[in-house]
Amino acid sequence: YGDFNQKIDYVFKVVLIGDSAVGKSQLLARFARNEFSVDSKATIGVEFQTKTLVIDQKTVKAQIWDTAGQERYRAVTSAYYRGAVGAMLVYDMTKRQSFDHIARWLDELRGHADKNIVIMLIGNKCDLASLRAVPVEDAKEFAERENLFFMETSALDSTNVETAFLTVLTEIYRTVS
Ligand code: GDP
Ligand code: MG
Repeated sequence: YGDFNQKIDYVFKVVLIGDSAVGKSQLLARFARNEFSVDSKATIGVEFQTKTLVIDQKTVKAQIWDTAGQERYRAVTSAYYRGAVGAMLVYDMTKRQSFDHIARWLDELRGHADKNIVIMLIGNKCDLASLRAVPVEDAKEFAERENLFFMETSALDSTNVETAFLTVLTEIYRTVS
């Protein structure tokens, strides 16, 4: 009942994009509900989840959209990106291919979204450090070149999940306030 009768100052739409199985749905579950499931099925049904937080004494409702298994190239529709002011561009740091596809996801995002959109590159599954396939330097370099925020996260053990979303939401707040 947290939201009941609460005055909302801002609603920020944030989209999750990236290859299938990189952990988008689990990042959202961790951030919105502090949950994680090992055997998460391909996302069906729910389009977005919300989490209400306070930034600079304003009540901000984050509306975070998750792809409903539409990760095939160009299957994500423009309705998904419409109105988004933030994006989490997620790869799996144990799967090189998911990082190699990031440039394509970024192109697609930039083709559809507002030009001032705040973008965070996320290397997820950092709990699996021994299986690392993407050097942190590669990701940092890409993020710097493309002007993205960057963080490695783990939806499993919670590392940086809250920080990543809060960084994006705070930056969005700074751009609109
Ligand atoms: P999506 O297709 O991008 O939404 O990926 P999911 O969130 O469904 O996750 C795909 C698989 O990776 C599932 O088996 C998750 O349990 C697992 N997974 C997601 N995040 C992490 C993480 O941070 N660490 C580990 N070890 N596994 C994860
Ligand atoms: Mg999913």
